[in-house]
Amino acid sequence: MSQVERGMSQVDDLTAGVQEILIDEATLQGRIRELGAEIAEDYRGRDLLLIGVLKGAVFFMADLMRQLDIPCEVDFMAISSYGAGIDSSGVVRILKDLDVSIEDRNVLVVEDIVDSGLTLSYLLRNLEARRPTSLEVCALLTKPERRENDVPCRYIGFEIPNRFVIGYGLDFAERYRNLPYIGVLREELVAQAEA
Ligand code: 5GP
Repeated sequence: MSQVERGMSQVDDLTAGVQEILIDEATLQGRIRELGAEIAEDYRGRDLLLIGVLKGAVFFMADLMRQLDIPCEVDFMAISSYGAGIDSSGVVRILKDLDVSIEDRNVLVVEDIVDSGLTLSYLLRNLEARRPTSLEVCALLTKPERRENDVPCRYIGFEIPNRFVIGYGLDFAERYRNLPYIGVLREELVAQAEA
């Protein structure tokens, strides 16, 4: 099978890489409604800037924002972690910086997943240096078993076991982001990624 054909078969069957569904669509959306209500209460009457980390947090950001019944603004950053495979190296490069200054603003970083915490810990140090009034984190998923850096996440959607997950913004080799649920990547593919 040529590389193009292999690519096409993966395109044809989006669910081929999914071992099992970990968090279904209704459960995801229910929890996001709860998080939105909690965040809206905490920030009511204060200026709020949401910062999303591309590309994984885009789906979560879009749904979370629609659950906030308070005024807020949004901006995005793109970062890349050096190192191959599926483990984060913690060495982070900013590919796209914010468009706005965060000085004297209430900033809430919206993340898809906190695994070792290395990426987030770098990002928080970088943002802290820009002197926001407040800086908090809302992560849809965390893997507490893997946490190396004690990063403070004020809002957490779900704590999940140490498995490689895809869907709802999370990719494997840039694919599967458009699955509407969080699924576990098939074991053969995890092994391939780690090789
Ligand atoms: P950390 O620096 O916390 O180890 O890794 C954070 C980044 O690694 C996340 O923003 C995400 O891009 C990626 N990552 C960590 N765990 C997973 C996972 O289970 N699935 C996917 N798709 N990406 C992950």
